[in-house]
Amino acid sequence: MKESTAMQNLPPYLFARIEKKIEAARQQGLDVINLGIGDPDQPTPEHIIAALTRAVHDPANHQYPSSVGLLRYRETVASWYQGRFGVELDPGTQVISLLGSKEGIAHISMAYLDAGDVNLVPDPGYPVYGIGTQLAGGTSYLMPLKEENGYLPVLEDIPAQIAQQAKLMFINYPNNPTGAVADLDYFQQVVEFARSYDILVCHDAAYSELAYDGYQSPSFLQAPGAAKVGVEFHSLSKTYNMTGWRIGWMAGNREAVEVLGRFKSNVDSGVFQAVQYAGIAALEGSQDGVADLQKMYQERRDAAVEGMRQLNWSFQSPRGGFYIWVKVPSGFTSTEYCEMILEKAQVIITPGNGYGQYGEGYFRIALTVDASRITEALQRIKELL
Ligand SMILES: *Cc1c(COP(=O)(O)O)cnc(C)c1O
Repeated sequence: MKESTAMQNLPPYLFARIEKKIEAARQQGLDVINLGIGDPDQPTPEHIIAALTRAVHDPANHQYPSSVGLLRYRETVASWYQGRFGVELDPGTQVISLLGSKEGIAHISMAYLDAGDVNLVPDPGYPVYGIGTQLAGGTSYLMPLKEENGYLPVLEDIPAQIAQQAKLMFINYPNNPTGAVADLDYFQQVVEFARSYDILVCHDAAYSELAYDGYQSPSFLQAPGAAKVGVEFHSLSKTYNMTGWRIGWMAGNREAVEVLGRFKSNVDSGVFQAVQYAGIAALEGSQDGVADLQKMYQERRDAAVEGMRQLNWSFQSPRGGFYIWVKVPSGFTSTEYCEMILEKAQVIITPGNGYGQYGEGYFRIALTVDASRITEALQRIKELL
């Protein structure tokens, strides 16, 4: 049976070659340091696991959940927004649970696009924005994220004709892969832009709780009028080391919450309720773990920045997220450089072209290993260069 054209047109898996090399190095018994993966290495905090364990024993949680999430979960999300950002949300109509934010990000295009419709997609970016668009039969208009613009899409550069056609606009700050942050002023510009062209803004805030040097990431929904034109995708994955649990939410625009809810009620049946209770415990419980996590990533970032300065790599020290985006030294493509570092230093870094065409010429480092391993990795590279 022939697969769909949309499936055939999925981008090739760029890391296939690198993964073969990683496998080969490991087979030889070499000590490979992985600065490639965006998956936290720390365990989920104990009180969250305890909440899951309690909830798992309650037969009321063994049945189909509501596809939009327990009201109790949505109320907890709304209170968290109130406490963290001063944003007022109606839990009944402005919050929906997700099976991880990736699920909602992929499905929102299917809920909104007809064949040939256009989404505004950042490049480089988390691949799901463009892939969701494509699987829905739509087309991505790429918004280049460039160093000279602080890795923010330049809204004036989007042709009016494209903006008029566009349905969704994806943005993501703190940003994966560039580590850039956006301030409320920028979000306000996005709100104005979306209002004038009737676009639904989809802000991915997966890294909002990981910030350094006292920086606090704003929510898109803090910008006046944001809930009239947009939604925010959020996740417990990075803040509470819960990537495997599959729980997140979308909040903001009422219509979008209703539309995605209607879509999801036909596709999945929501998040296991015991996991929702764990999510409630995460958001309502002590946030000391989050502070510790920030401290840990900041130490890793500092170790990385110190080691990388000695390598004369060109990069900006990130204020949020857990990635550092680095220029490839001249004379190499992204892939060539990453393969060379892997072969000669047994250190995995991710080529920037895996995040889109404008990522060529860069690579990404993830702070998902100990500071001492980061230092060792950079030491190996220093000896090599
Ligand atoms: C990790 C990540 C997510 C979170 O995905 P979940 O499905 O919630 O685990 C979302 N967006 C970006 C950019 C990410 O890097």
